[in-house]
Amino acid sequence: MELFKHCKIYAPEQLPETQVLTANGKILAIGDNLSVTGLPVEEFDLEGRYLCPGFIDQHVHVTGGGGQFGFASLIPEVTKDELAATGTTTVVGLLGTDGFVKDLPTLYAKVKALDEQGLSAYMLTSYYGLPEKTLMGSVAEDLIYIDKVIGCKLALSDDRSSFPTELEILRLINQVRLGGFTSGKHGILHIHLGNLKTRIDVLHNIVDQYPSLISYLSPTHCIRTRDLFDTCVEFAKKGGMIDLSAGGTRFTEAHKAVGMALEAGVPLAKMTFSSDGHGGVRREDPVTGTVTYTPAPLTCNFKEMVALVTDGILPLESALTLLTCNPARNLSLKTKGRIAVGCDADFVALDDNLSIHSVYARGKKVYES
Ligand SMILES: [Zn+2]
Repeated sequence: MELFKHCKIYAPEQLPETQVLTANGKILAIGDNLSVTGLPVEEFDLEGRYLCPGFIDQHVHVTGGGGQFGFASLIPEVTKDELAATGTTTVVGLLGTDGFVKDLPTLYAKVKALDEQGLSAYMLTSYYGLPEKTLMGSVAEDLIYIDKVIGCKLALSDDRSSFPTELEILRLINQVRLGGFTSGKHGILHIHLGNLKTRIDVLHNIVDQYPSLISYLSPTHCIRTRDLFDTCVEFAKKGGMIDLSAGGTRFTEAHKAVGMALEAGVPLAKMTFSSDGHGGVRREDPVTGTVTYTPAPLTCNFKEMVALVTDGILPLESALTLLTCNPARNLSLKTKGRIAVGCDADFVALDDNLSIHSVYARGKKVYES
């Protein structure tokens, strides 16, 4: 058991300073003067710091992105310590362009390893392209028979994609939906968006014809271009979730995009941040022409969340939703993203200046600054 004392809780909504008691990785009680007799209790005195839900990063290349400049450019895998240092206690691993050298069995093993190391890790089946790649023979069976699989990956409007048609996308939605309801998961189709002019026109067609399918669609990299952002804003206003990459290629910084989306009428509950961490980032120096290819950082999610607060766009309790309860709802992870009795004991403790002091995953300290 663990007792967290002198915590100013952001659940993410703000609560008065109090205590949190946890056991076996779950929150048992929240209140003043909690006490346990006859059992060993580890105490963490947070000395009035903010206690927030552990962050959820729903797009991380945990096994490293594929190499787009030959084998020597393969991106290395993430470590538990790297994730924990950014406040991430729940991670969804996925494949990118490379579904060959970086394969699903290795992704599954990495996700299980992160879980053994104390974090909560999940995965998406398949990869960027078509035909889809699976472990059990179909996307639906991967969701049904593999505990860690909570959805499927696909790429759209990218010149490296397989140029999926509307029918192919509908059939993948069908697979995540069947696999999801059979196994008691929601099931999402997480869609990488590139910068082609076709944007998400096909997703708009699908939800206009079949409005009930919108909750299975999870487009990401929605701020890659201004044109793409504008159509993703319309998608969110129809009720869809949009994921804003906090790093990588984007027309504006993620926190500024949140402000623009809010002004355009998108509810905050429809937006999430993710890092695209350890994807390969290609950069060309405009002066020298030198090309570099490096791992995308995991740190941008937290930086962009803090920028929402320091730029005066949102108060902390609202800014936190992009990394906590909003991705938990998108992924249908019912015990994640909130500080409440019965939820998992995943916490980030922040100092007054909004820097990370310490991180706890399922009740155990996994990082201290
Ligand atoms: Zn990616």
